[in-house]
Amino acid sequence: MSKRTIFTPKVMRMLALVAVMGASEPLMAQTQNQTQKEMQKTATDQNVLLAEFQGPYGGVPAFDQMELDKLKPALEKGMELHLQEIEKIANNPEEPTFENTIEEMERAGKPLQRAFVYYGIWSSNVSTPEFRAIQAEMSPKISAYSSKISQNEKLFDRIKTVFENSRDNPLPADQQRVVDLIYTNFAMEGAELDADAKKRYAEINMELSKLYTKFSSNVLADEENYVVFLEEDQIGGLPNSLVRAAAKAAEDRGQKGKYAITNTRSSMDPFLTYSDERELREKVWRNYYSRGDNQDEYDNNDIIAEILKLRQERVALMGYDNYAEWRLQDRMAKTPEAAMDLMMAVWPAALARVEEEVADMQAIADREGAGITIEPWDYRYYAEKVRKEKYDLDSDEVKQYLQLDNLTDALFYTAREVFGFEFEPVPEGSVPVFHEDVKVWEVSNKDGEHIGLWYLDPFARQGKRSGAWATTYRSHTTFDGKKTVLSSNNSNFVKAAPGEPVLISWDDAKTFFHEFGHALHFLAADVKYPTLNSGVRDYTEFQSQLLERWLSTDEVIERFLVHQETGESMPQELVEKIKNAATFNQGFATTEFLGSALMDMKYHTTDPEGIDPREFEKETLKELGMPDQIVMRHRSPHFGHVFSSEGYATAYYGYLWADVLTSDAAEAFSESPGGFYDKDVAAKLVQFLFAPRNAMDPAEAYRKFRGRDATIDALMRDRGFPVPQ
Ligand SMILES: [Zn+2]
Repeated sequence: MSKRTIFTPKVMRMLALVAVMGASEPLMAQTQNQTQKEMQKTATDQNVLLAEFQGPYGGVPAFDQMELDKLKPALEKGMELHLQEIEKIANNPEEPTFENTIEEMERAGKPLQRAFVYYGIWSSNVSTPEFRAIQAEMSPKISAYSSKISQNEKLFDRIKTVFENSRDNPLPADQQRVVDLIYTNFAMEGAELDADAKKRYAEINMELSKLYTKFSSNVLADEENYVVFLEEDQIGGLPNSLVRAAAKAAEDRGQKGKYAITNTRSSMDPFLTYSDERELREKVWRNYYSRGDNQDEYDNNDIIAEILKLRQERVALMGYDNYAEWRLQDRMAKTPEAAMDLMMAVWPAALARVEEEVADMQAIADREGAGITIEPWDYRYYAEKVRKEKYDLDSDEVKQYLQLDNLTDALFYTAREVFGFEFEPVPEGSVPVFHEDVKVWEVSNKDGEHIGLWYLDPFARQGKRSGAWATTYRSHTTFDGKKTVLSSNNSNFVKAAPGEPVLISWDDAKTFFHEFGHALHFLAADVKYPTLNSGVRDYTEFQSQLLERWLSTDEVIERFLVHQETGESMPQELVEKIKNAATFNQGFATTEFLGSALMDMKYHTTDPEGIDPREFEKETLKELGMPDQIVMRHRSPHFGHVFSSEGYATAYYGYLWADVLTSDAAEAFSESPGGFYDKDVAAKLVQFLFAPRNAMDPAEAYRKFRGRDATIDALMRDRGFPVPQ
């Protein structure tokens, strides 16, 4: 997935709103009077961060003219201009119509959107302490601006009128979809409520945001307060890299000469995998899975109960039975029942696989004379022994076949064969970039028509956030004249010595394909209105997950996965090893994931009155038959996805939902005559799953692609589970 966490949740909501509001060419706005147009022009002329993109390819961002002291004035002016446009729409004396309300909203806010392009670059690619100070200052201002739009009653009245009129006289399909999405977005945020209810709604949100902050800081406190310090004779089994990191962590904490295992996943997970010290494994395990649950001042159980009550009260104001019902209405799953049904269909096979995995591990423990029964703190340790016996894969050997330049060519090959896209480097110096490492390609379709640019910022450096992500600087729309796409991919590969190829791991190569999938999703867009470019949480990751599958196709392996020295293609047996390794430990992975996802849904479909989260978690997992050897991937008192914001509340199931679609869609290719390069299936993929973005209901789009709904069978095969009859 694209792990973008550059903004606070509140700002993320605001940005989503800006995306929903959309924007396009301000000069085309016929109802704007001359003065407003002139004001906007003057403001954008004075600040390059607000100005229209100039130069080739329909205009490109002025990344060579970014000056940080222009950012704050640009954001402030951009918000002011957008709010003026919104006021004008809201106070239009004419009867509300699609054109004078929805289309004008789609058109508004364009200078601000451009300022946010630069803001995103500073935030993710070239951050500095000076930028972060501006970010901290602007964040509450941005959220206040966002509230001014979502709480604008006159604006909502007009949206509602257009929406209600469209019930009697339906609009063309794409316009109808825009109206439905915008109306739902406002209504879900309480726009329909009367004055008293609105007041309570705002109070609840205020209380919730305090509880979310408290929840996270409690988890953080327990992560910082519980560190296990090891002596020299307690590091048996640990790989050198972990020992070095632990020594450094101890030194940082004033315990030079010792080894610190901190209370975070990146420390806990490898320690439990490799440490020979069973008692210490138990200690580290208990610390980690007790975060927020130590019955002290940092305990989160009461906070969870409070959060659940407030969420329930808030959705009840809007007439919903429970939080999950409210949340899922605009997701692909649509109802909590659909999400639960999916999870419960996979659950029994995951449990059965856990039994097999535990039996394999117990056999090794018995053979070694360990004299133990497998407990949760033994799982990773003995699973690693099973892995070595059954699936051993030398990651260094694999890397020799994964050269960054070849993989980039493999992306282009896939884009050509499946999407009909051609990638050509732009002439040197013709498109401004924000760092010398960034390269730009022109993308055209099979008719030779220009459709956009693709920027690649491949290497790690100071000031760049970790991980990999995709983004756009401009999205495809046609309602005010055709706009071409400016897409980008960003990674953190480590540069090689001069003259040597950059070699990356199999996982990183998969991620490279994944993020390129997001870029192709942007580039393939064929929608009229900006709002139709928006994402759907349990759906939009699926397209990029699917793209990962082309990495292991024979065509890519033969042409592009060649040994850095010998130039020979990756041998078939190594490919097989990689594929087999993908089913390793799936019982554990699926069960710990589903434990969390099922609890998430149970919490939000149960009456929260009098709930005791500690008891509720225990009882619910018992009813589900959670195995003794596994805990939830995120136990309730530290389940930040769900309780430190609303980001993934009743949305954690979405990872599995997207996996089901991915596996099922991949089989549409593998079963076809042309396999992953079948022209007919590829054409349907582009037409129904990529080009419409959010212009079509996701379930309907999928049905058009596949001829039926997705089933879990392919996922079960991918995970090595038996397919239910
Ligand atoms: Zn993604």
